[in-house]
Amino acid sequence: MREPLRRPAPKVKVIPIVEESLYEVQKKIYPRAVTGVFATWRWILVWATQLVFYGLCWLEWNGRQAVLFDLVHRKFYIFGLVFWPQDVFYLAVLLIISALALFLFTAIAGRLWCGYACPQTVYTEIFMWVERVIEGDRMARMKLDAQPMSARKLALKSAKHGAWALIALWTGFTFVGYFTPIKTLVQETIAWNLGPWETFWILFYGFATWGNAGFMREQVCKYMCPYARFQGVMFDPDTLIVTYDAERGEPRGSRSKKTDHRAAGLGDCVDCGICVQVCPTGIDIRNGLQYECIGCSACIDACDQVMDKMGYPRGLIRYSTENALAKHWGRKDILRHVLRPRTLVYGAVLSAIVIAFAWALATKVPLKVDVIRDRATLAREVEDGRIENVFRLQIMNTAEEPRRFAIGVVGLEGIEIASDKTVDIPAATTQSVSVRVRAEPGAGSRGSNRILFEVRAVGHEDVFVREKASFLLP
Ligand code: SF4
Ligand code: SF4
Repeated sequence: MREPLRRPAPKVKVIPIVEESLYEVQKKIYPRAVTGVFATWRWILVWATQLVFYGLCWLEWNGRQAVLFDLVHRKFYIFGLVFWPQDVFYLAVLLIISALALFLFTAIAGRLWCGYACPQTVYTEIFMWVERVIEGDRMARMKLDAQPMSARKLALKSAKHGAWALIALWTGFTFVGYFTPIKTLVQETIAWNLGPWETFWILFYGFATWGNAGFMREQVCKYMCPYARFQGVMFDPDTLIVTYDAERGEPRGSRSKKTDHRAAGLGDCVDCGICVQVCPTGIDIRNGLQYECIGCSACIDACDQVMDKMGYPRGLIRYSTENALAKHWGRKDILRHVLRPRTLVYGAVLSAIVIAFAWALATKVPLKVDVIRDRATLAREVEDGRIENVFRLQIMNTAEEPRRFAIGVVGLEGIEIASDKTVDIPAATTQSVSVRVRAEPGAGSRGSNRILFEVRAVGHEDVFVREKASFLLP
């Protein structure tokens, strides 16, 4: 009897299930300390920006805080100038100037702002310095983090976080000190009497500083800052960027100092990896321009030191341009291309706006007048047969001294003010004044007639404002 045919069992392919997270696991970066020309410049900028930030709020001017954004009374004091909500124009111009300056400097030298002056960079630099002083440099910190918790580790971590918290709280306190007079803030703090909003903002700003500079660090630049994303459009082949000279550096490889690396077929890069170790964003500049590069130049300083040790010329990593690398330009050619249509246009527009802004500030009259018609009384005939219109004048004395203002009116024959012609207004105060204006019925055409109110500070002839209004004749 024949054996029944058996089909071979089908082969089952086992596919291993691999779980993949949609989010990149964040590796902690331990930047190594670096010294050099650019590190010195970074620290100069840290000192300069922080001296201004922490110091400016303690300066006095005319018996008050020199720089104070008094949101409650809607007045911004900047040394001798007082800005009101009506002066939003100045703020708009200031923002335009900042944006244009950013465009110009980015077109010339890439992410200068990010690398040297951005608060995120500056506070990260300060926090990393504290970390280094307490926990040690890169290797010591890596070793400490890998260790299980011990009394020493706890003490070091507590000291670091304590120092960070102090800096962060002082930063929050200073920030709020620009909105509430800082001396009042100190008194309130000593008396344990801080208001709820002040407490909230000090803690909030302090917490943001502690979190951003202590923990988030490069992630703020990589994932949160929009500037990193759109800066590429401001770059062109003549923009100075931190670059690795691959032509000179490759093929990379370790060697002893005595080796004739050219004969051995090696480039200048000894593949020591120090440029990666010092990078605060943890990238390898040898892979080309990357959006994570904040242009801090730490890798330039680090590589220059390696080149010095090896006896090679400096500048394997350096500020250069795409064109300069491709066409082997020297410094002179690079500098010559700083002046190109894009930078000239940015520069010209920026200069024009800065000059106009300075002129507007220098000639700013410390007086504003708004005319509002009294809607309850349009036009009425008074006892002497003349026509009276009532207006409400909002007079803002933006000077820091009380002043008397004379009010006049012109525009129709015989037109005059029938109410008080002067008003006393305290320093930096707005006052609403009701003004009755009279004219003969035949002084103008029926309906609306254009008139001008003239308000002048008595004893200060240059403080003078003219404001249009309509006088109604029946
Ligand atoms: S520091 Fe310089 S030599 Fe060392 S790996 Fe980086 S580029 Fe190469
Ligand atoms: S690559 Fe160099 S310049 Fe760019 S962030 Fe890293 S260290 Fe700074």
